[in-house]
Amino acid sequence: MPDFKEQIARSEGYFGEYGGAYVPEAIRANTDALAVAFETLKEDPGFWAELQQAYREVSGRPTAFTPLRRLSTQLGGAQLYAKNEGLNHTGAHKINHVLGQVLVARHMGRRRIIAETGAGQHGLATATLCARYGLECVIYMGYKDYLRQRPNVFWMEMLGATVIPVKEGQQTLNDAVVAAMKDLLTHPLDTHYLIGTVVGPHPYPKMNTYFQKIIGEEVRTQSLATIGQLPDYVLACVGGGSNAMGAFYDFLDEPAVKLVGVEAGGHGTAPGEHAARFTSLQKGIFEGYFSYFLQDDDGNIAPTASISAGLDYCGVSPVLAWLHDQGRVQFAAATDAQVLDAYRTVLRTEGLVPAMESMHAFAHALALAPTLSPDTHVVINMSGRGEKDLFIAMEHLQPAQMTEFMQLKLTSLTTHA
Ligand SMILES: *Cc1c(COP(=O)(O)O)cnc(C)c1O
Repeated sequence: MPDFKEQIARSEGYFGEYGGAYVPEAIRANTDALAVAFETLKEDPGFWAELQQAYREVSGRPTAFTPLRRLSTQLGGAQLYAKNEGLNHTGAHKINHVLGQVLVARHMGRRRIIAETGAGQHGLATATLCARYGLECVIYMGYKDYLRQRPNVFWMEMLGATVIPVKEGQQTLNDAVVAAMKDLLTHPLDTHYLIGTVVGPHPYPKMNTYFQKIIGEEVRTQSLATIGQLPDYVLACVGGGSNAMGAFYDFLDEPAVKLVGVEAGGHGTAPGEHAARFTSLQKGIFEGYFSYFLQDDDGNIAPTASISAGLDYCGVSPVLAWLHDQGRVQFAAATDAQVLDAYRTVLRTEGLVPAMESMHAFAHALALAPTLSPDTHVVINMSGRGEKDLFIAMEHLQPAQMTEFMQLKLTSLTTHA
């Protein structure tokens, strides 16, 4: 009998050799207190009832389970279904672990929340819930991200958050993580560092897995009701791994359900051209945990590339690293070109606009479905909705119209000035 769920439940921070809490002593005091609080709340049915209520009232769960009949017919193979996490408040699955952590912080009496964000989606979800729950919110962003994600900065500020541009280093996501860690050093007790995926020091990988597992639990119920059986495959894109762990967790001990994580294949296989960590399998310690990280020959963190900001990350969840080594989760990669092709099929065939990240899982499904028989059922976890990707999608799919639009905007700005 497989017992992956039991092993995760018992984990004190390690999943095989992966995980841990490789942080300075002063931060360790903060994360240890969090681990103790989480383990206590995890055994408290009252806490889960509170979280279930918040999922319903704040985020609109359960999210839809949508048969993709036209797409399945067109591809001529497996039956496809989308689990539409894009219907959540703030547009993606991220709110699941933001809600969970905000409730834990409240139980701990921590009224100050900090977070880092790259593309801005995690910061936006965090700022939104801090406003709702009356918590102080500080968001760190690399200065380059702060400039290019100005619309998200605007909304975070309107929601009452303080957004701090980080001008050290490369001025991107990893520098924002360093700044958040430094903040925690000076606020060891009253502050909760709200990490946006299943990475980081213990207890974040385990805790966020628990806050995301609602996705797979709903898929189980909806799949039994809609098709009368469990799915044969569950596909999910993998940045840090939170939507994937959320979709996979409930099926870990069901060997008949194949679990496939889809990474960003980027625009090439050379170092720096992709973010497919499971192709090179280089182990290391970074940002407080041991896992697979893309690295150069000297063991320095390597640059990554992807058309999708949410998958453009050097590391991956220690839980997924372990499940990979155990042979329980398979990994594939979808390239930028495959993702752009998927836009041309998925939108007009199903009337769905998946997030660029989620489109990686769709791209893999488009390749996989024709190889399978019509009695095979494949669930694609649509981690988010795609309206946020307007500019990057239009730049690639309608480049001439995009240029024309930008010129028009610029002209109207200069004539009004
Ligand atoms: C942030 C994000 C991801 C990547 O994060 P995971 O932790 O790997 O899920 C994927 N999809 C969407 C829509 C996102 O916003």
